[in-house]
Amino acid sequence: MAAEHPDQLPAVPEETRLRAAFLQRELARHASLYYVLDSPEIPDDEYDALYRELRELEERFPSLQKPDSPTKRVGGKASGPFERVVLEEPMLSLDNALSLEDLDAFLLRMAPVDEGGYVCELKIDGLAVSLLYEEGVFTRGTTRGDGRVGEDVTVNLRTIRSLPLRLSGTVPPRVILRGEVFIDRDRFAALNLEREDLGEPPFANPRNAAAGALRQLDSAVAAERRLSIYLYSLLYPGKAGLFTQRDLLGWIEKAGLPVQRAWGFCPSPQEVREFVLKWREERLSLPYATDGVVVKLNDLTLWNRLGSTSHAPRWAIAFKYPPEEKITKLTDILISVGRTGALTPVAILEPVTLSGTVVRRASLHNEDELKKKGVLIGDLVRVRKAGEIIPEILGPVVEARTGGEREFSMPSLCPACGTPVVRLEGEVALRCPNRNSCPAQIREGIAHFASRGGMDIKGLGDKLIAQLVDRGLIRSVADIYSLSEEGLASLDRMGAKSAANLLKAIQASKERPFSRLLAALGIPFLGTRGAELLAGSFRDMDELAAASREEIALVEGIGPVIAGSVHTFFEAPENIALLETLARAGVKGALPGEQGEKEEGPLPLKGVRLVFTGELESFTRSGAEEAAKKLGALTSSSVSGKTSFLVAGRDGGSKLAKAAALGVKVLSEEEFLQMIGRKE
Ligand code: NAD
Repeated sequence: MAAEHPDQLPAVPEETRLRAAFLQRELARHASLYYVLDSPEIPDDEYDALYRELRELEERFPSLQKPDSPTKRVGGKASGPFERVVLEEPMLSLDNALSLEDLDAFLLRMAPVDEGGYVCELKIDGLAVSLLYEEGVFTRGTTRGDGRVGEDVTVNLRTIRSLPLRLSGTVPPRVILRGEVFIDRDRFAALNLEREDLGEPPFANPRNAAAGALRQLDSAVAAERRLSIYLYSLLYPGKAGLFTQRDLLGWIEKAGLPVQRAWGFCPSPQEVREFVLKWREERLSLPYATDGVVVKLNDLTLWNRLGSTSHAPRWAIAFKYPPEEKITKLTDILISVGRTGALTPVAILEPVTLSGTVVRRASLHNEDELKKKGVLIGDLVRVRKAGEIIPEILGPVVEARTGGEREFSMPSLCPACGTPVVRLEGEVALRCPNRNSCPAQIREGIAHFASRGGMDIKGLGDKLIAQLVDRGLIRSVADIYSLSEEGLASLDRMGAKSAANLLKAIQASKERPFSRLLAALGIPFLGTRGAELLAGSFRDMDELAAASREEIALVEGIGPVIAGSVHTFFEAPENIALLETLARAGVKGALPGEQGEKEEGPLPLKGVRLVFTGELESFTRSGAEEAAKKLGALTSSSVSGKTSFLVAGRDGGSKLAKAAALGVKVLSEEEFLQMIGRKE
């Protein structure tokens, strides 16, 4: 198309020019909040409406178009400390169809070339990544960034269990795939509860949560988020003999990579419409959030022919389902006190059905959010589910106010124990500082300690914990171990048999390994995965307690966030006192070999500290570490004075020099294999 001469462009009214400039600024700000900081201020459909308004203005008055306009660019920016990677092919956004008419307009545009049909895939609310496999081995994964330069997040992608590190079958020497990383509904809901508890603002949607996880400095924190991935595209498909999207999805699956099963081949526009209607409700029963359907031409040769704009390909469109929004009455606001004392205002609602479930409560997160929303008790409020998962109040229906509504203010005293609340510097949450005797905090702390990921005490559920705390039978997790049969028998609905079973379960929990005890303590940011990594590198609680922040951060997968949090935990005298009381009760976190009959085999490497460097022939790095740990060894990612041996494979790097400087003995792979008994 020949460029129009500026003189031929329609004159832009001043008002329109100002509006466009405002929209460009405002959309750029929201894009940065969303893509770079993972914390949007407005819902997606509001953003989409502003975006569409700008696009229409720019189309009507081309002189308003600027190369850096949000309509010309793909969202984010490679940020943070991750290495920047120039993407081999740009990763674009998708044009949106916000209604069935928009979808029809797209199908009409494609009609002249659509004889090969369409493939419809559900649009998961996650973020796009690019994966590189060289000679079948996963070597690098990057985020989309600004579409041209992404961030290298390989270490965090490796924590995704369903992502194979090696492809199956015969594949081209370089395979570049694109896919979506996401977080399950349940995990998303649990993560936001945890964040509330830590006084952090919750994630607005699963996509922001997944993006936050991929950009974690501690891969153990990323692992804790339990990300998943589905792949949907392959660069240079012709090299693998693929010419349709339908075959391509089959190929990806055959290579051992996860593909979302809910895709459909639609021979004509009519089937596309049916697919979109069919999945409108059905998608709500999937374990992850989806916000639309991506409709793609099936014939891959057309993808090249039609090409893309600077923003999105021409051969695909994302149909977005409108978010379900309802109006209901906010009857009250209650305060819940979490494990770490954070006070969370919770709205009590007249029951309303949203995205398939009845909603009765919605968290208002914290005082700032409450003020921002401007809701009063007695208001009619607009509600929806954030990411189709978490009930969320959008705001009041101001026109419906009768004058009988009343304002809610956050209490100055903890509703559970009456202690004056505080706001810690830099935190959004108000907190009850009475950590040791606030019954709400004790209850939550005990529930966490006894939970499945922690000490797994069967039978010690929320109701029982509430009774035990209310009657003063338990004041800290250590008191669990001094419960008696008589004490338990005095509780409501507790027969002799249940009491005996509970005591047995409590006794059994003393055998839980060191890693479980660590996770049960509720140290901020430390979950089961991080606790396992620490337990693999420190002999016992005493050694971990004595370690410096830097020593803790040496453990592979543990970064500054967990290291700082763990170190701070052990600095508090009350935590040390608690651990001593637990130890006296026989709760020390069983070490390998101390867990009775559960542990198999001898532990010839007990106490031996190993570090690995370079590439091993017979193992992956984690396989070697696993094998050594099974025999009682401790492993770490860098060489220090405490290291017993450095195991060096091919192309060992700077660790060899460090080992030489510190006088640490270096073992060859051969010697290591002998050491673990895999070679004579
Ligand atoms: P998009 O999410 O609308 O579509 C592109 C993305 O879809 C791809 O990058 C990929 O990640 C994803 N996708 C999922 N399944 C796919 C599949 N099967 N095939 C291909 N791609 C698939 O575009 P975007 O540029 O990533 O984001 C734009 C959207 O983000 C906007 O529509 C808006 O809703 C939201 N946003 C919101 C704010 C805010 O402030 N709330 C700000 C910026 C952007």
